[in-house]
Amino acid sequence: MLINGEHVSDMDEIEVKNPYNGEVIDTVPISHLNNVDKAIKAANNAKKELQEMSAFKVSNKLYNVCEKLKEHREEFAELLTKEVGKPINESYVELDRSIETLKLAAEEAKRIYGESVPLSAGLNGKGFFAFTQKVPLGVVVAITPFNYPLNLTIHKIAPAIACKNTVIIKPPTDAPLTVMKFAEIVNEEFPDGVINTITGYGSEVGDALVASDKVNKISFTGSVMTGFLISNRAGMKKVTLELGGNDPLIVLDDADVDAAVKGVINGAYLNAGQVCMGVKRIIVQEGIYDEFKDKLVKETSKIKQGNPLDKNTTLGTLISEKAAIHVEEAVNNAVDNGAEILIGGKRDGAFFEATVIDKITHDMDLVVRETFGPIAPLIKVNNVDEAIDVANSTEYGLQAGVFTQNYKNALRCANEIEAGTVFVNKQSTFRTDNMPFGGFKNSGCGKEGIKYAVDEMTKTKLIGLNLR
Ligand code: NAP
Repeated sequence: MLINGEHVSDMDEIEVKNPYNGEVIDTVPISHLNNVDKAIKAANNAKKELQEMSAFKVSNKLYNVCEKLKEHREEFAELLTKEVGKPINESYVELDRSIETLKLAAEEAKRIYGESVPLSAGLNGKGFFAFTQKVPLGVVVAITPFNYPLNLTIHKIAPAIACKNTVIIKPPTDAPLTVMKFAEIVNEEFPDGVINTITGYGSEVGDALVASDKVNKISFTGSVMTGFLISNRAGMKKVTLELGGNDPLIVLDDADVDAAVKGVINGAYLNAGQVCMGVKRIIVQEGIYDEFKDKLVKETSKIKQGNPLDKNTTLGTLISEKAAIHVEEAVNNAVDNGAEILIGGKRDGAFFEATVIDKITHDMDLVVRETFGPIAPLIKVNNVDEAIDVANSTEYGLQAGVFTQNYKNALRCANEIEAGTVFVNKQSTFRTDNMPFGGFKNSGCGKEGIKYAVDEMTKTKLIGLNLR
């Protein structure tokens, strides 16, 4: 672990395994709570030096971090593929997005400012000159999941530092290594204690960080269940929760079917379906249902499952065999209730085949819950009203996609689907790193996307000068 610029170990360790071949890649400590306290102390002590730094300097340092990550792109991508099991080409994309995210934060560091406020517009407010400032919160704790460990963590660290907060990272236990390696780079640029890492189980060290009254903000990405636990434990501190999704992709009768099929291929099987904004429910109008289904099966048959380090592989493993068994159970349960597998459906260790399932009803567990696997479940509907109803029928509301050439239907879906983002003629599985990202309903609260994350990581102070 990295605490106050020093490497710190503990008595017990966790093995980090490659889900493809079971090889132990490395070990990380299970932190004792006294080291959690040390990290919190270090982060608090480092606040003053960081906050006294000019925005110009903070921005330059973030650019330097970005350049260093670029230099080490290849080795980071390889490590990411080894610890997560995602195809190497997907790891390159995660690296490129991470570099982009850092660049956006370096830019944003130079435009964090308030506004003048006309107090004279309020009763008895005449004679003041007043303005706001955006003030850092202090110590930000970043807790992140296994599926995009590097970029999702950078989505927290980079804006936090851009607005001069110090950071403690609790990386995912299944995939902590790229994040810890990245923290080393940040530490080379910034004073000791600005960035710290604590490893160990979320329910212990994560919980201790969340409950601490010397931490000012929890920025969490992960499951709805953990999100609820965190919001209950966090007390008065600010919390951003980026939680699970169960994103619909609606295909209406007038859609460009080939484009919609491509949307599913890119959205349902990416990272073996372990994507919060992955396409998880495909809602298809009856007029084009058969054509869509046949084309989807054909394109799914071209997916290449294999060694994640092989550049030709398009489907890697899930994060663990346990996760793949969980998907297998959800699929079997749907089949027991009348669903029909058109292609795929088999598990081999931590692999699960790209799978299209027909005859899904909107109330089956497979689509009511978030299934984190390479599954394309098809739900047939009669019309746009039913499509919207089905889309809104879960507790989630992260992103959504609708394929139609009819602008009235497009706008109806955009207005009526309860989700943080609705794309028209694009699947939900799309994000640029500057856009406001964050769900409705149980998919979370608060937004990320650098500028929006900075808003969530600062507080507004008003300064009023009485000139009378
Ligand atoms: P998870 O089990 O909720 O874990 C996420 C992080 O929380 C891990 O670092 C975990 O540590 C930690 N944690 C667990 N219990 C905790 C507690 N009581 N207090 C504090 N921290 C705790 O999620 P996951 O299985 O890794 O990730 C998959 C989920 O993340 C899916 O639901 C997915 O949709 C969601 N996700 C959302 C977004 C988004 O932006 N909306 C993006 C990606 C993923 P351990 O690893 O040690 O358990």
